[in-house]
Amino acid sequence: MTLRLHNTLSDSFEEFKPIEDGKVGMYHCGPTVYNYIHIGNLRSFLLGDVLRRTLEYLNFEVKQVVNITDVGIGGNNDEGEDKILSGLKREGKAITMESMLELGSFYTERFKEDIATFNIKTPHVLPKASEHIAEQIELIKILEAKGFTYKTSDGIYFDTSKDSHYGKLTRSNLVRQGSTLSRVIPIPEKRNPRDFALWKFNSNLGFPSPWSQGFPGWHIECSAMSSKYLGKTFDIHTGGLDLAPVHHNNEIAQSENACGCEFVHYWLHNEFVNVPEGKMAKSEGTGITLAELIKAGFNPLAYRYFLLLAHYRSPVTFSWEALTAAQNAFEKLKKFVERLDSGGTIDLAYKAKFIEKIENDLNTPQALAVVWTLVKDKDVLPNNKLATLLDFDKVLGLGL
Ligand code: AMP
Ligand code: ZN
Repeated sequence: MTLRLHNTLSDSFEEFKPIEDGKVGMYHCGPTVYNYIHIGNLRSFLLGDVLRRTLEYLNFEVKQVVNITDVGIGGNNDEGEDKILSGLKREGKAITMESMLELGSFYTERFKEDIATFNIKTPHVLPKASEHIAEQIELIKILEAKGFTYKTSDGIYFDTSKDSHYGKLTRSNLVRQGSTLSRVIPIPEKRNPRDFALWKFNSNLGFPSPWSQGFPGWHIECSAMSSKYLGKTFDIHTGGLDLAPVHHNNEIAQSENACGCEFVHYWLHNEFVNVPEGKMAKSEGTGITLAELIKAGFNPLAYRYFLLLAHYRSPVTFSWEALTAAQNAFEKLKKFVERLDSGGTIDLAYKAKFIEKIENDLNTPQALAVVWTLVKDKDVLPNNKLATLLDFDKVLGLGL
């Protein structure tokens, strides 16, 4: 078998073939650091982590990049209230560049703590948007020179009508377009509702630019920073499903038109963590933080176990009851492992089964089923069970 991944671009399963033999470059859309991340966000970072661990388990050399959105106008759309500004207002902080960067640094550190608590390996590069303004301006200049931009009274926009491939990521598949089209707010001067800001003017705040002082649009940072650290064309890009129709189509439009080359070979998207009201979201007041989960008496890795019980492309509904059940199973597994003797060797038949599951588009629920079959198998010696379970844990990251 070889690794097969579901590629949103083709809406099909594809055999994974890296650009360079044995090496993988991958990029995950990171947090907007205006608040603590919630446990729904964690699912998208878990996808990146399980993917990295799987690739490393299969002996690929991985370079993983996760961006930090600490400045930039727009949040999840171009025209809604900026998340960073809303963070400053929420905390009663002055609206200055200094406090903006301070807020960003504070929540960047909290993000790093959260992913470490969740046993997510630290990405090799965590570039901040505020430290890559020159690269973003350079990219906008290239698009401008190629005739893809126009100016309005409030910024520089990308003209999607100039890109005959615009929207190619979600053209042929089932990504829920409806939820996102509602987020594309028409503003009168935009030539097309889908056009998006590359640079937004701001006379009070921001960075100098060839156009006017202001901020980069939200989408351009991912195009600029991914190419800086991974090259103009790289292997894998991931993010939550909500990012595909707008943010990721915009990244593709910027990057491919600037370089005249393919941007990314494989696009992976995780489904949501839902609550009864819908998608878990900070803005809806339904976001639960990892700290809240720990305060309620849960082991953060029990939540990791809970998420691994579902395939990353299936929605999950969070409830405290479901988490309790997952924690009970997780504790049972940990206690079982604690009682085993060391000094064994990996059971190769089980390892082959485990690899078959993870190579099948990272099928963690089936991989966990292999774990439990092994736990119950009376024909495998306890010390060999331990060696095998610890080997599987390189992928699962449950801290066994
Ligand atoms: P944001 O900081 O809002 O840009 O979100 C960071 C990442 O979390 C993105 O990849 C989002 O798609 C993802 N995300 C946001 N909410 C959820 C959710 N409820 N379930 C799963 N992923 C989510
Ligand atoms: Zn992005």
